Amino acid sequence: MSVDPSALPLVDLVTELGERGDCRHDPDLHMGPDAFEDEPLADRLARQDVAREVCESCPVWDLCLDYALRVRPTFGVWAGYLPRELAALRREARTLPAALSEVA
Ligand code: SF4
Repeated sequence: MSVDPSALPLVDLVTELGERGDCRHDPDLHMGPDAFEDEPLADRLARQDVAREVCESCPVWDLCLDYALRVRPTFGVWAGYLPRELAALRREARTLPAALSEVA
């Protein structure tokens, strides 16, 4: 797909991720076990590392990042980022234009 992800409605992004995202084969890898199952910290960190590796070669990585920045997920690994990392990216995106205008 050669369309700017930000121009796509969320429903289209969800469809693309569901049909082409590499995580579709094993959603638990990115989302973790359900709320009723304990996941030790070491297991969670290891799982998230593997999920990030899967994201690195995902064919819809750019769409996934756009989706995650827009919907602000509260759990899971999205485009290789955890929710708190996505929040930091959003903050950087807000301040970057001002910073660039200062150096220009
Ligand atoms: S970038 Fe990662 S989380 Fe997003 S669709 Fe691809 S594999 Fe799934």
